Amino acid sequence: NRPAIAALDKDSFPILERTTTEGKQLVYLDSAATSQKPLQVIEALSHFYRYENANVHRGAHRLSQQATEAFESARAKVARFLNAKKDTEIVFTRNATEAINTVAYAWGLLGGNLTPGDEIIVSVAEHHANLVPWQLVAQRTGARLRHIPLLPQVQALDMDTFEKMLSERTKLVAIAYVGNVLGYVQDVRRITELAHQAGASVLVDACQAVPHMPVDVQDIGCEWLVASGHKMCGPTGIGILYGKEHVLRREMAPFLGGGEMIAEVFLDHSTFADLPHKFEAGTPSIGDAVALGAAIDYLEDGLGGMKRIHQFELQLARYLYESLEQFQEISIYGPPLDNDLGLERAALCAFNVRGVHPSDLATIIDLDGIAIRAGHHCAQPLHRDALGVGGSARASVYVYNSSADIDRFIDALVDAVSVLGEKLTLRPA
Ligand code: PMP
Repeated sequence: NRPAIAALDKDSFPILERTTTEGKQLVYLDSAATSQKPLQVIEALSHFYRYENANVHRGAHRLSQQATEAFESARAKVARFLNAKKDTEIVFTRNATEAINTVAYAWGLLGGNLTPGDEIIVSVAEHHANLVPWQLVAQRTGARLRHIPLLPQVQALDMDTFEKMLSERTKLVAIAYVGNVLGYVQDVRRITELAHQAGASVLVDACQAVPHMPVDVQDIGCEWLVASGHKMCGPTGIGILYGKEHVLRREMAPFLGGGEMIAEVFLDHSTFADLPHKFEAGTPSIGDAVALGAAIDYLEDGLGGMKRIHQFELQLARYLYESLEQFQEISIYGPPLDNDLGLERAALCAFNVRGVHPSDLATIIDLDGIAIRAGHHCAQPLHRDALGVGGSARASVYVYNSSADIDRFIDALVDAVSVLGEKLTLRPA
């Protein structure tokens, strides 16, 4: 008897009209892994290759100038979308992983900002993309990697311990804005403030935030923020690295060398291009950047902007959480929907059903047309060391989902669990 929640827009997503081989209509609940793409983005990509394709920044011909304009105007859109001070603070990468690696290598390793005894603070709940690069750089520099633990009861980050971990040895805090498994929305502004008081720099992994809520890099105050185009209705192959101008300019050495990133090349040495090209070696993902610009237009103009999307997702997040929470045998990871820490929950739930392997569950409901993810969601240490499980199932929603999608998911889940010889029982009121 809960009120139905309609999708913000389903019609723009042709893939959602698909039926499976069993004749079931697709319900896509895996947007935390990658979002579907609206026609506006598919058409922008096609338009670029049909009418505008040329390499950027080097051609005397007009087509190259047009391609350059399209590429650079996409950068300007990203800068405005994140409220960066300047377009040149936006570096295009292949994905968020490459963006984090760029900081790890260009700042941590080549920039000489980490020395033996320095500390890098991450959390136990980070995605591998915000963990492995720091392990690699720590091993090479002698810096020490430290991990913010979870509060065992609420499964949120232990901020008191974080504050105690900060010291003059802390050089970097690298932290997710929204947990891709635990679903919390972290107060990254406060984390940045505390880290800055200790003299540390801050990288915010905003992969699960930028597609879903307004994100303002100046308000957060962080040195870097990264996101992936493919999770925000954009194509794969394009990622975003925001960096404060003076950090990109003065604290980070060129990482990948080659064309585009140089000013002058001599046989034995080179000088480097200005920002942001210093970090964009080789031909960039031009068409993907242009289509990411179209994705931003779609989110802002087509759907009415990130505030509206956020409000919509809060409702759907509640609907999803409450739908799973009603069963005694289901445990949802991360802080409860209504928690004492005042943490908001994003529109994703990782969970396990007692006695059922998450992969079996995902495989069986897939036959009903329901696409959810099962596994460790690139957060193995979180599952193994903090939650004590091998993996989990995860349902995540976006602008094209409705409460009816979640109802279908729950129906399929109940059926699948019974096929697997278990039974879901309602929690006593
Ligand atoms: N961080 C988080 C929190 C993520 O959810 C993801 C994507 N699953 C990444 C980083 C990495 O993104 P990509 O694979 O696009 O580089």
